Amino acid sequence: MGDSGGAFEQAVYGGTVATEAEPQSVLLAGHDVPLGRYTTVRRLLPQRRRRLVGAWCFVDHFGPDDVSGRPGMQVPPHPHTGLQTVTWLVEGEIVHRDSLGNRQPIVPGQLNLMSSGHGIAHSEQSPPDHPPGMHGLQLWVALPEEARHGEPGFDHHRGLPVLRTGDATVTVVVGEFGPARSPARVHTPLVAAEVLFATAGHDRMPLEPRFEYAVLVMSGDAQVAGVSVSPGALLYLGRGRSDLAVHVPGPARLFLLGGEPFAEPLVMWWNFVGRSHEEIVRARDDWMAGRRFGTVAGCAHEPLPAPPMPTVRLKARDRFGGTAG
Ligand code: MN
Repeated sequence: MGDSGGAFEQAVYGGTVATEAEPQSVLLAGHDVPLGRYTTVRRLLPQRRRRLVGAWCFVDHFGPDDVSGRPGMQVPPHPHTGLQTVTWLVEGEIVHRDSLGNRQPIVPGQLNLMSSGHGIAHSEQSPPDHPPGMHGLQLWVALPEEARHGEPGFDHHRGLPVLRTGDATVTVVVGEFGPARSPARVHTPLVAAEVLFATAGHDRMPLEPRFEYAVLVMSGDAQVAGVSVSPGALLYLGRGRSDLAVHVPGPARLFLLGGEPFAEPLVMWWNFVGRSHEEIVRARDDWMAGRRFGTVAGCAHEPLPAPPMPTVRLKARDRFGGTAG
């Protein structure tokens, strides 16, 4: 999934220069965005004040929604470049189809990881007989220069490392957390982990001081580094932390994101991550002309047309929203 048309930000991003070396605690409110015809997501990244966390460049939180008797998620075929998509469900089922011929249902606790390389197309649909609830995340990882021109790929991981720290059960979705490492193939140092508290409790989670981190809450409430966090916001934590104190007053599900600050300037527009205005124009032209991205077989929906290009040139911006040279 991703930007399916309509409300998407035309401006852009990048990772570069200045990086805070110190811990921070900045609570960033997300905003609602329609996705496909039937789903509204909370977009937590990118934001004006924060474009990236490590290589994480896009974070959507959807649900919990009651989709019984409704279509659920229906995102028609659309293209991607320069990124990996991470889909993580805690309720529901979504069927992924892509232009490599993969058809993969995803259910809670499993990871779908799609790598666009130079180009891929996919669709995401709740199947007709879907469960009544839907709740999950979709995240994008920006690919570094050496990986972004490669072949597209898709991986489904059923078995992810699970460990206990404090009162929390942590599932390592991507990258490394403490002694555990996800089997998912990524191209920059980063982490994504689900942190589940079955009851009230606390934890002091091990962090990597070189990484910058952010935490979101999928359900319940939490005190993270002394800041109250609820669903709908992202707490940016900066760098330089070797651990993170979390307290929850009741059952709660958190999600931790982190990584080495991503150094390359980026241009993001619609479903494309590139390095220049011209690259984005070429990707858009290729999609509209039926080149490069292939076709998604087995999806009843027509492919999504790309929105018109903005009338101004897209510029790379730094990690904080300023223009990067
Ligand atoms: Mn997508």
